[in-house]
Amino acid sequence: MKLLVTGGAGYVGSHCVRELCSAGHEVVVFDNLSAGHPQAVDAKATLVEGDLADEQLVDRTLASGGFDGLMHFAASLDVGESVREPLKYYDNNAINTIRLLQAMQRHEVHRLVFSSTCATYGTPPSVPITEDMPQIPINPYGHTKLAMEWAMRDSAEAWNLGACCLRYFNASGASADGWIGEDHDPESHLIPLILQVALGQREQISIFGVDYPTRDGSCVRDYIHVEDLGVVHRLAIESQQPGKFRYYNVGTGVGNSVKQVIDAAREVTAHDIPATPSPRRVGDPAELYADPTKIMAELGWKPKYTDIVDTMRTAWQWHKDHPEGFA
Ligand code: UDP
Repeated sequence: MKLLVTGGAGYVGSHCVRELCSAGHEVVVFDNLSAGHPQAVDAKATLVEGDLADEQLVDRTLASGGFDGLMHFAASLDVGESVREPLKYYDNNAINTIRLLQAMQRHEVHRLVFSSTCATYGTPPSVPITEDMPQIPINPYGHTKLAMEWAMRDSAEAWNLGACCLRYFNASGASADGWIGEDHDPESHLIPLILQVALGQREQISIFGVDYPTRDGSCVRDYIHVEDLGVVHRLAIESQQPGKFRYYNVGTGVGNSVKQVIDAAREVTAHDIPATPSPRRVGDPAELYADPTKIMAELGWKPKYTDIVDTMRTAWQWHKDHPEGFA
């Protein structure tokens, strides 16, 4: 297939692009490089540097022809920032996505895989989270992603868009061959921050909340390996039919607490990694992990990484070899 991948130079996007290229698909990456890294883009893919707000460039790119489908990763994704600057999120995640959908309609591209998020569930009534639980997001990031799921559902009815919304949990790890990995600036994600302590770049890791009603008092999340996410995206686009709206939770089905993640890093790095109990972070639900039964049954997918120690090993290999990230 010939595929356009927005945000294909970012963390999850670049791993998906590699998976698509190695399966023989032709990939054009569209990325403004505000958070992405050109070095992360597979050499077999073509990189168009541009912003989704540039309607003419999006048009020209799609008009270059022959696209069978599109994967849409480009988005702002910091929950805390979305609370402080909601309009940035409505602009980038909602308005730019609507423009993209309009361009797809104009150019008759009818297959889409969309990066959605478990944040669309807000605080779920129970765990593991199934797809039929109510979607009641609790922050602007989740609101914008859910609104775009609605736009896609309505477009499936109205103009035959085929869309698959992948509601992922915590993307983590790095490519098994050590080639690409996680590099955000500023970094706010748990695993890279922990590994920066092991590298001597930070003194300690703060544990945001130790009084949650969980197994050890710290928050529980589902850390899904980024290469497993790559395979899911490939299977989703390959099986996507025009006019069909689908949505799946994408996680391992295993919850790990912040303390367990720190322990895994201690095991893998052989570093003490000092950890300090700290106040809760606003907007953090106590426990989020997926029930991945639906996607496993319907796409025939199974995560390769279900043990946090194995995921941590790939992340450590990347951070050890790239202490300054892609720079
Ligand atoms: N977390 C933490 N200390 C940090 C960063 C994150 O305890 O310095 C916790 C955070 O509260 C959450 C989990 O680690 O429970 C994962 O957070 P992250 O920001 O990596 O991803 P999110 O769940 O927000 O998508």
